[in-house]
Amino acid sequence: MRCAGCGDAATVLKTVVCRTDRERRGVLCTSCWLPLRDRLWIIPGSVVVWGKCLSHGSWVSLRDLVDVKPGAAGKGVAPGGTCTMCAKEGA
Ligand SMILES: [Zn+2]
Ligand SMILES: [Zn+2]
Repeated sequence: MRCAGCGDAATVLKTVVCRTDRERRGVLCTSCWLPLRDRLWIIPGSVVVWGKCLSHGSWVSLRDLVDVKPGAAGKGVAPGGTCTMCAKEGA
């Protein structure tokens, strides 16, 4: 998933819809969404948050991390933890 504004693979992308034209929707990172927030609605429940599995080093959905630690992945505020797959292997 990439931000529709800057093309960045951000760790947190909001699914937004245009207030005046509901057909226009996309995903935006926080910095692209902020200046447009008067014109865009965020669709609740469809925020995609990525976290880094510190065991195998890949980005996974935050829902797949068992022990989320904010900022653990180092880059900015990217959360890190252990994915369900690695957690099972370690058990
Ligand atoms: Zn962006
Ligand atoms: Zn893992």
